[in-house]
Amino acid sequence: MTGKVHIADTPVTRYNWHKHVNWLNTFFILGIPLYGCIQAFWVPLRLNTAIWAILYYFFTGLGITAGYHRLWAHSSYSATLPLRIWLAAAGGGSAQGSIRWWARDHRAHHRYTDTDKDPYSVRKGLLYSHFGWMVMKQNPKRIGRTDISDLNEDPVVVWQHRNYIKVVFTMGLVFPMLVAGLGWGDWWGGFIYAGILRIFFVQQATFCVNSLAHWLGDQPFDDRNSPRDHVFTALATLGEGYHNFHHEFPSDYRNAIEWHQYDPTKWSIWVWKQLGLAYSLKQFRANEIEKGRIQQLQKKVDQKRSQLDWGISLDQLPIMEWDDYEDQAKSGGRALVVIAGIVHDVTDFVKDHPGGKAMISSGIGKDATAMFNGGIYYHSNAAHNLLSTMRIGVIRGGSEVEIWRHNQVEGNKYIRNESGQHITRAGEQVTKTPTPIPTADTA
Ligand SMILES: [Zn+2]
Ligand SMILES: [Zn+2]
Repeated sequence: MTGKVHIADTPVTRYNWHKHVNWLNTFFILGIPLYGCIQAFWVPLRLNTAIWAILYYFFTGLGITAGYHRLWAHSSYSATLPLRIWLAAAGGGSAQGSIRWWARDHRAHHRYTDTDKDPYSVRKGLLYSHFGWMVMKQNPKRIGRTDISDLNEDPVVVWQHRNYIKVVFTMGLVFPMLVAGLGWGDWWGGFIYAGILRIFFVQQATFCVNSLAHWLGDQPFDDRNSPRDHVFTALATLGEGYHNFHHEFPSDYRNAIEWHQYDPTKWSIWVWKQLGLAYSLKQFRANEIEKGRIQQLQKKVDQKRSQLDWGISLDQLPIMEWDDYEDQAKSGGRALVVIAGIVHDVTDFVKDHPGGKAMISSGIGKDATAMFNGGIYYHSNAAHNLLSTMRIGVIRGGSEVEIWRHNQVEGNKYIRNESGQHITRAGEQVTKTPTPIPTADTA
């Protein structure tokens, strides 16, 4: 089948760039705010109007965060009819499209995060994820498919979608102007500040969830995708800034799980529950949340561990005969010491040995297992770690190594990390023997 190529799938050139621009969206998200900014030079901002604009900002912002996002896109709780109508009206007042359209794109964003099917993938650039995806035309076929059958069954959603332009006009501009006009006679101020500029700020805040929250902050739960947690994004978005948590646990009605984190959307939903307006608040068990956090911590620990020198892995060390070891220690020019069946080259360390040169030299060419493990001095955990970096071989039939290997495998202690590296816990080094053993005739 040869269909017409969508403009979004052709390169932007000097001659066709205007065809790439979605002029209607550009007018709504850039043109109207620009008009509001210019008007603001002539319309003085009165205190009453400023307070009203800020209150209405929170009101319409909650329509998006608690309504569009957590109720309709994620079904993280259920709401009674009056609350649904209220949220649909308030969300409409922030001029971000209908619930149906918004939630469909948002579900695609969660399902296909960071891929080409993500409608606002941050991989295409910070500005693109902020509003480039609306200012530029997109091929609708590119966006991942999602199921919105539940939304089609909600009469509030369907009604709002059909009457979207009326809702935006009434709740976005007329209502805030009416309150300021009838309340204290500031019709123009209500229109410019509580209407146009307030819409601009709510829109920019919401866009930050798609851009900033995928770019700035920590990733305590999973770092394989872009979502991040940051208090700054939370402050700008009524608590939607704990986005790493949110992408891991999207159907949780909370974004912030700590009491001290800023999530007024969560607090509102909780209050509505106390008032009987919201119910069935969904929440992941702390057990599940902690598992994710621990796995991510583990990953970080593994990364740090892999940057350290733990000595050559035992199974990669060459096998040495005892007689060869003795010969090399005597005439090979190197200071070799066997501890627990492992040959260590301590040549460079002899002069630095905290216990003195004489003490370490007395073990050269011998089996120093017992001396090292308390026979003469009971060496510290750090000493065992340091010793492991000096290993160069394993004595054939080195019984201690075999016993150790056996114990580690049997006791399930022989742990490897994701990349197959051994994990050596404190006190479990191969050179560490549980009780001081007598010097054995290793042969
Ligand atoms: Zn996201
Ligand atoms: Zn979401």
